[in-house]
Amino acid sequence: MPDELYDLTIIGAGPTGLFSAFYAGMRGLKTKVIESLPQVGGQLAVLYPEKLIYDVPGHTKVLAKDLVSQLELQGFHFTPTVCLDERIEILDRRQMEGGDVWCLQSDTQTHFSKTVLITAGIGAFTPNKLDKPGVAHLEGKGVEYFVQDKRKLRGKRILIVGGGDSAVDWCLNLKDWASSIVLIHRRDQFRAHEASLAELRLTDIPLMTFWELKRAHGEDFVSGATIYNNKTGEEREMEVDAILVNIGFKASLGPIAAWGMEMQGNRHLKVNCLQETNLPGVYAAGDIAAVEGNEPLSLIVTGFAQGALAANRAATFINPDAKLFPGHSSEMRL
Ligand code: FAD
Repeated sequence: MPDELYDLTIIGAGPTGLFSAFYAGMRGLKTKVIESLPQVGGQLAVLYPEKLIYDVPGHTKVLAKDLVSQLELQGFHFTPTVCLDERIEILDRRQMEGGDVWCLQSDTQTHFSKTVLITAGIGAFTPNKLDKPGVAHLEGKGVEYFVQDKRKLRGKRILIVGGGDSAVDWCLNLKDWASSIVLIHRRDQFRAHEASLAELRLTDIPLMTFWELKRAHGEDFVSGATIYNNKTGEEREMEVDAILVNIGFKASLGPIAAWGMEMQGNRHLKVNCLQETNLPGVYAAGDIAAVEGNEPLSLIVTGFAQGALAANRAATFINPDAKLFPGHSSEMRL
């Protein structure tokens, strides 16, 4: 058996994956969570961090990004191994001494697990890239699609590109941290939440509408940018140390459809009432799962219940003497 054999590996750290990780921990399973993005939270973090959600049990209303923070705290309570920025490309069965295991391969490493829970939602998110001269060459060298380490931006001159929540949020987040920030957006309509935009307008950050990036400059690292006004054609050169591109995301189920699982349509994995796919020890929950014969109800609350069921089912798969019912958490000391 491989050294690093996990009981349960969860693919996707959206709300379903995070809550499932908590349940798996409660069942004492050695758990790993793998997420293709460098951040957790799935659709909530990527598509609508500033929106209020009204249908999460126990919250009359909660900001999506605040729910993600709470889910992260809860999901990582039992300290699962967490691999971010890693997309699983291949799932297959390997024969090992001592029994067969699931093998999950990303482009960087291979993981081994007794059971697998797929909570991949609407698929792996990848940031939309900006196809302008200099940008691809300087990606990771000052051109960033995610802020992975805010400390690196301390005292820097930053150009932010985009008009959605991420672009506006990063302006607000970095305003007292960077030496200067300029926001450019190709239109005069912003997708960002109105309240955040209003807050941004109160700062001294220039909001340059109808301006786009024409070229990123720099050899080993970003040193500047050429921007242009798409209405007048005017061009300007700017000295900047970082270019943060926040122009949305694409989601794609990608390789998952080729892992040998029965599908319902082309977006859902077919599961039974215990969240089991047709592969032994492989479960699906949340937006990606369709319980056979039922129309999927793609809501956060659905994923919570399905994730809890799948984690408990995985516990009984690994130990057939275990009960499906985990006991009440109120009787535990966590
Ligand atoms: P996701 O949130 O999609 O997370 C899946 C994660 O898996 C992603 O982070 C993805 O990067 C990762 N992943 C995918 N493939 C791989 C791979 N191969 N390897 C590694 N990682 C992978 N629901 C409500 O209940 N109430 C609401 O008010 C509400 N409002 C919404 C508003 C908007 C604008 C949208 C778009 C959705 C809303 N929803 C709402 C729906 C809700 O967001 C989803 O039901 C929920 O996010 C599903 O969670 P999930 O964890 O199953 O999937």
